[in-house]
Amino acid sequence: MRRTIVLGIIVLTGVIMAAMVSAQQAPAGAQGREGGGGGGRGGGFNFPPVQPIEKVKDNLYMIQGQGGNTAVYVADSGVVLVDTKVANNGQAILDQVKKVTDKPITTIINTHTHGDHTGSNQFFPASVDIIVQENTQANMQKMPVFQEAANKNGLPDRTFKDKMTLLKGKDEIDLYYFGPAHTNGDAFVVFKNLRVMHAGDAFANKGQPLIDRMNGGSGVQYPDTLTKAAKGIKSVTTVINGHTMMTTTWQDFVDYGEFNRLFLAHARESMKAGKSPEQAMMDFKLPEKFKGYNLAGGRGGPGGNFGIIYEELKGAR
Ligand SMILES: [Zn+2]
Repeated sequence: MRRTIVLGIIVLTGVIMAAMVSAQQAPAGAQGREGGGGGGRGGGFNFPPVQPIEKVKDNLYMIQGQGGNTAVYVADSGVVLVDTKVANNGQAILDQVKKVTDKPITTIINTHTHGDHTGSNQFFPASVDIIVQENTQANMQKMPVFQEAANKNGLPDRTFKDKMTLLKGKDEIDLYYFGPAHTNGDAFVVFKNLRVMHAGDAFANKGQPLIDRMNGGSGVQYPDTLTKAAKGIKSVTTVINGHTMMTTTWQDFVDYGEFNRLFLAHARESMKAGKSPEQAMMDFKLPEKFKGYNLAGGRGGPGGNFGIIYEELKGAR
């Protein structure tokens, strides 16, 4: 009898913990739905409200909430925003920016197409220069929200293919593209002088990435793309992630590439051995340094990303 009670408590604790984990993962899940649907308007998402602006380094800030993390960079010539959250948050972003500078917002960089990163672009005047990787421009042009005439000013004004440098001297920002990962247009935004990078959702958090095949994402190319980024980008120390509450380190970014490589290797082996995605997930073991990673959550159900990577591997043969 006593044993039954103890077991019951253990089971109940497990259920509560699982519920807590899934609550933490809710923004990622919402983002996943959006990735598939391509262009949410901010309705039905489970994101916390826009948070007070936080300092990352001198002249560089971060605003959490209502979608992806927004970076705010105060350059001599004006303010550069990276990502604009879900729709209807333009004023809230502007209110936070005004707490740290009177300079106008001159530039928006979107790390990728998703509505939780581009959703409030159209709030800002048409004179604001919007810059994205060229595949992201094509993805954004397909989004229903940008079919509406009133929102067209939220579409990109300029694009880059592999690399672009914005501004001059101490304000220089390098934009890089290394190939498909979360989508086929993931930009890495490097504030050179500050040695900080906004990684967007290519490194959203320490867990399974969302692989948005509809927008050209690839679980098979994901590890190579991150490895190319890790080799091609120099002297970054701090990383702003797509969806974390705190910045991470360059080493975390390098490790994230390794995590995705291990994940892909396990997918290949498990598929070869005839295991289901669920079995692959169950026997996926990670080295000790990944102990902070959260593999639970809604993406792909109990098989996680293994299902989506299997499909991609089958298609590639
Ligand atoms: Zn995304």
